[in-house]
Amino acid sequence: MSQLFASEVTLSMKFKISLFAMLCSSALLAQQHAHQHGIANATLVIDQQQIEWQMDIPADQVVGFEHAPNTPQEQAQQAAQLQNLQPHSWLVWPSAANCQLKNASFAPEPGDSAHVDYVSSASWQCADVSQIKQLQLDLFALTTGLEQVQLQYVTPQGQGAATLTMDQNQLSFADN
Ligand SMILES: [Zn+2]
Repeated sequence: MSQLFASEVTLSMKFKISLFAMLCSSALLAQQHAHQHGIANATLVIDQQQIEWQMDIPADQVVGFEHAPNTPQEQAQQAAQLQNLQPHSWLVWPSAANCQLKNASFAPEPGDSAHVDYVSSASWQCADVSQIKQLQLDLFALTTGLEQVQLQYVTPQGQGAATLTMDQNQLSFADN
């Protein structure tokens, strides 16, 4: 019986992981076809007391330009923004869930395209993900003109998609 239970858990985790990979690649695909200034694409998976987050955001909305920083002023601006954004404290989880940031990165994607994205990725370990009934995104005021975050998510309550804005920066999972 416990053997069966273990294999079911493994299957479920594999499913969630492949779903996360699928969500990420579809977000990547969308971004490759339409790097749209003002719009970021994000994926979120909450499962097994863990949160996995990934987001592509145009460099224009991170630093205000998309070329490599080549003046001391641009370099200082990039360093300041990465210091603001890398800790991912703009993603606010309910304190009852007791989530601790495990790892995070916020960096420009490699390559020399005329349109550059920054990739935000982070994961948290939580004491109780069942307490995560909503997400609050305090990101917009930290950016240079980010208008929308288009989010695809999978949580224990189900999966869905949402568009977050400065005025509507909270998403309730309980409603879904
Ligand atoms: Zn661009």
